This record gives sequence, structure tokens and C-alpha cells, in this order.
Amino acid sequence: MAFETRETKNLSHSGIKIARALLRWYGKNARDLPWRIGPAARKTGAAPDPYHVWLSEIMLQQTTVATVAPRYAAFLARWPNVKAMAAAPMEDILGQWAGLGYYARARNLHRCAAAVAAAHGGKFPDTEEALRKLPGIGEYTAAAIAAIAFDKPAVVIDGNIERVVSRLFAIETPLPTAKTDIKMRAAEIWPRKRSGDFAQSLMDLGALVCKPRAPLCGACPVSSACEAYALGRSETFPKKAPKKQKPQRLGAVFALSNSKDEMLFERRPEKGLLGGMFGLPGTAWTDKHDGDASAGAPAAARWRRLGDITHIFTHFHLTLDVYAARAPKGFRRSMNQQWLAPKEVRLPTVMKKAVELAVRSERSDDE
Ligand code: SF4
Repeated sequence: MAFETRETKNLSHSGIKIARALLRWYGKNARDLPWRIGPAARKTGAAPDPYHVWLSEIMLQQTTVATVAPRYAAFLARWPNVKAMAAAPMEDILGQWAGLGYYARARNLHRCAAAVAAAHGGKFPDTEEALRKLPGIGEYTAAAIAAIAFDKPAVVIDGNIERVVSRLFAIETPLPTAKTDIKMRAAEIWPRKRSGDFAQSLMDLGALVCKPRAPLCGACPVSSACEAYALGRSETFPKKAPKKQKPQRLGAVFALSNSKDEMLFERRPEKGLLGGMFGLPGTAWTDKHDGDASAGAPAAARWRRLGDITHIFTHFHLTLDVYAARAPKGFRRSMNQQWLAPKEVRLPTVMKKAVELAVRSERSDDE
């Protein structure tokens, strides 16, 4: 076993070659990410902070590195540790999260921080099993934290790793069925030691070299072991089952303004999509327009249709008709509604689009 080291003791000969090549490549090419302790710093004994790893992993779900980086810094500046986040009002977390989408993640962020502070004395547990018991931590995130923060030999499969492994082994089964295969094959190359660095080496290889389109196989440290490359079909993996079309939902929102140029916002119910966030009052979102839209309006007023906005959620496409009016005399807001200046409200993206349309129309009316 010429290649065997402490890191790769558990692997076959070809697994060892791949693991070592990737770790070596990572040592020279690791991306410099704000939440990461890179290979050079690790050599000097620096260790990742589990709070940083957890926060970045939750933020990176469904969101790109470029979007997350500044937002991560802002979260960390405001809540430098898990106890500080646990003590913050949920409202503040949701406000800070605005624009990152998938708001259930923000609510779980707070619940998880509270659970770590209360049940674990402010320290994240270090096993996949215990991590999975925390709110918002599923299979992937538990493995990522166990590997990256605690160097446990957890097999981490994110989108980049899925692509690299399915190419390395030319896995013909389409996703999502291939997920089990991909995890099994990944385990064949996963070293027991430096598991976190190894996970990040695969993530970086996927982001920098083994890209979805036009992978740079000529610059790849594991091309000699890559089955997809040998077949000349790198780009055709991973195979994907044909996509189902997302259903369409329709609704209407109402921008009611007062003489102070404030707009009427209401807090959405805690449970459900965009739960706990501010939004414009409106109708339910259904698969067809249900009768008179103004039934969802906050007041009987002279509503003017401004146009519509569209937004894509994970499971459906949404089109919202946007209406605007001035508040009629004697209008009284309900308990969950507030008059606020539009630019001061942290809104989810879909509502931001509707408010921007209303503000634009108002401005053009004034000109
Ligand atoms: Fe990806 Fe090409 Fe490397 Fe294979 S050889 S892992 S397809 S970059």
C-alpha cells in the first residue's frame, strides 16, 4: 500500500489515489471563503468554529456563495455567537434574512440557536446523529457540520459533490434515484482523517474545475481516474430525470398608501410560506383567479390595477396582480397591519417586486 497514510487507511488502492490527489489539489487551490479555515491555516492549528460552519451551511442552501458572503458577514457582526443569536427576537432574524428566500430556514436558524444554547450549553454537538435532532438540520447539513467543523468521517453530498462523484464513476442512473449510489461511491473515496478538507476539496473541484458545463478536465487532478472523462462524456453526468413543470398560482396584492406616503403592510401568519414576514395585504394564491380580487383588499377604495409581477418559488410559479389606492377617509388598520415607509421595511423578494411596482407607478403619476 504505497499510498496509504493516516488519512486514507480505510480506502481501496484507487480510492486512496483519488483522495490524496484531491487533498493535494485542495492544498494549493482552495477557495478563500469568509467562513472557511483554509488548508494553510489548518496546518498552523486553526480550527473551524462550528457556529460559523453551521451559519454558512444554512445560508448556502439554495443560495450562491456570492450572495451569501456579504450577508454572512452582516449576520456574524450582529450575532457573533450562537448564544447571541438565541437571545435575539425572531423578528430581527427574519428582517436580517430578507431577500435570501426560503424563510423557513431563517425561522429554523433561530430555533436551532435556541436549542443549542438551551440544551447544549451553547456548543454544537459533534455527531451527525445529534446534529440531526436540531431544528433545520437535515442529512446534508448534519454531515457537513460533522465533517467540516469536527473532522468526523461523514460523507457530505451537496450539488457540486453529486456532480463530481457521478462523473468520476460515470453513474448512469438518473437523479434523484442516483442519490444512494452517489453516496455509496463517495464513501469509497472518503478518507477517515481530514474529512472536512476532503469534503471542501470536492466542493471546490465542482465549483472551479468540474463545472456543470464545459468542465476543465485537462486541469483536473483526478482525470486519470475519471470514468466519464475516459468515456468522453464528462458533461453528460449527472443524468437527470425529465423535470415536471411547476404549477402556476395566481393572486393579487393591494398597495394602500396614506397622506404621509406610507404603505399598509401586514405580517404574514407565523406558519406557512414567508411566515412571519411583512407583505402587502392580498388574496390567497390559487391555481385560478377566484372571482372578485378586491375581496382580498384591505379597504373599499378606488383600486387601480398597476400590472403584475411574477416570482418563482421552489414548487410553483406565482403571478400577482398589483393594485394601488389611497386610503379612504376613516380607514382603520387591523391589528396585524402597520403603516410604514416602503423603503424601511425588510420584505421578501416577491413582495419587494410588488412594492417597487407600486412605488414606480406612484412616482410616474407625480411627474
Ligand atoms: Fe470532472 Fe473532468 Fe475531473 Fe472527471 S476529469 S472529475 S469530469 S473535471
